[in-house]
Amino acid sequence: MTDTIYDLIIIGGGPGGYVAAIRGAQLGMSVAVVEKRDTLGGVCLNEGCIPSKALLDSSEHFATARDKFAGHGILIDPPRLDLARMMARKDDVVKKNTDGIAYLFKKNGITLLQGSGRIGGKEGEIYTVEVLRTGLGAQGSGLRENLKTKRILLATGSSAVELPGLPFDGEKIVSAREALSFDAVPEHLLVVGAGYIGLELGSVWLRLGAKVTVVEMLDKPLATMDGQTADALVRFLKKQGMKFLFGTKVNSAVNEGNGLKVALSGTSGEQELLCDKILVAVGRRPLTDDLGLEKAGIVLDSSGRIGVDENYQTSGEGVYAIGDLISGPMLAHKASEEGVVFVERLHGEGSKVEYEYLPGVCYTWPEAAAVGKTEEQLKSDGADYSVGKFNFLANGRARCMDETDGFVKILAQKETGRVLGIHIVGPRASDLIAEAVTAMTFGATAEDIAMTFHAHPTLAETIKEAALDVNKKALHA
Ligand code: FAD
Repeated sequence: MTDTIYDLIIIGGGPGGYVAAIRGAQLGMSVAVVEKRDTLGGVCLNEGCIPSKALLDSSEHFATARDKFAGHGILIDPPRLDLARMMARKDDVVKKNTDGIAYLFKKNGITLLQGSGRIGGKEGEIYTVEVLRTGLGAQGSGLRENLKTKRILLATGSSAVELPGLPFDGEKIVSAREALSFDAVPEHLLVVGAGYIGLELGSVWLRLGAKVTVVEMLDKPLATMDGQTADALVRFLKKQGMKFLFGTKVNSAVNEGNGLKVALSGTSGEQELLCDKILVAVGRRPLTDDLGLEKAGIVLDSSGRIGVDENYQTSGEGVYAIGDLISGPMLAHKASEEGVVFVERLHGEGSKVEYEYLPGVCYTWPEAAAVGKTEEQLKSDGADYSVGKFNFLANGRARCMDETDGFVKILAQKETGRVLGIHIVGPRASDLIAEAVTAMTFGATAEDIAMTFHAHPTLAETIKEAALDVNKKALHA
């Protein structure tokens, strides 16, 4: 046990934990982070956002060269795939990002302990955090270390949910982690779950040549997405060859030769399907095991998440939680924002997370992105609203790119014009949504957006035109 009493110990160095550590250090706190991986950045940098986007970008280049170059007048031999090199590049992108965080820790004087952390107990105002050290080589392995702190931030994130009939075997039935590192393109990849992760990783392998079938229990993908936007996305993905079985459940899978025989049941009855890999992407569960929560009197809510107040304090005084551990969408930018706001509030500032304007993005091609209310939500709220819509087909830049699939849809309060939701399916929707988030956070009306300069020719002009269309003034519709 060292004599140091930290102002803050953070368990978990993902986008929630590492960002809170940096902001805490900037505000003058003594901060230690306990992380059990040998790199920082959590799921997001190591096996989530970053490697998936690296593969999405690489596979998109491959598919563009194969399917679209000729349309631009570029004639090449069909591109060949060097999957090992694509994977090595992805690993390099991950390493550059995780190394970057390690550098920021050094720069900000943050103490990093590699190991598993748990709440050890409390004496007076001071907590003990027990750390089972890892990464110290054979000599140090199994070493236990106790640290003292005034406050603990739990930021241990989440892990993939397993389905009863489909236990992960790390090879044929896998989670996203393994699907980011297949060493060969599957012949037939079955994706269970039409959420963000399933559609994104399904897209990667589809573009690289796999047959991809997505099985989803609900009758639509991306459960929280605006219906019209989700329908359009499915249409575009089907056009690329992705197969969908909605209202269908996977019951079991058995090894048969080199592949798997999968039993399905659903709206179209019972059926069997052969595939060589199954990606189970049906959700994630908060990682709360063996955190010593009982030592601080913390109980989980009915969904297994940790309840917090507006300061992110749990029911244990001096113990806080953020990110995938607490309620709300499991997104990296949510975790990071909570990390910053938690530390700033601890420092006496009035910071606040604007949950109402939390964007969600599905990085398929075209991409889908949204902020605010969906049309279904407005209908069920009984809201009086107007809709403005503009198709990428009528946008000059989209035509130059030959990427005309999709639209921007703006939902605005009828009486005041205040924007209530913006939904985009189209090229670079992930970047376009930033304007929507800024506008809505500042309480913009459709007219405010419509009267703002948008450089020509840009994809962003679709947002201006959709805003004009709210009052039926669109110019290029
Ligand atoms: P995590 O990132 O899960 O980090 C928690 C860390 O705590 C981990 O490093 C873990 O090793 C460590 N830990 C756990 N227990 C202990 C312990 N007892 N002691 C020490 N350390 C511990 N989100 C987006 O916003 N955009 C995306 O594009 C996106 N893509 C994704 C793609 C995939 C394939 C996946 C799986 C997820 C994706 N996400 C995306 C979700 C995003 O990764 C998570 O929401 C985010 O990482 C949550 O951050 P966190 O800090 O709460 O937890």
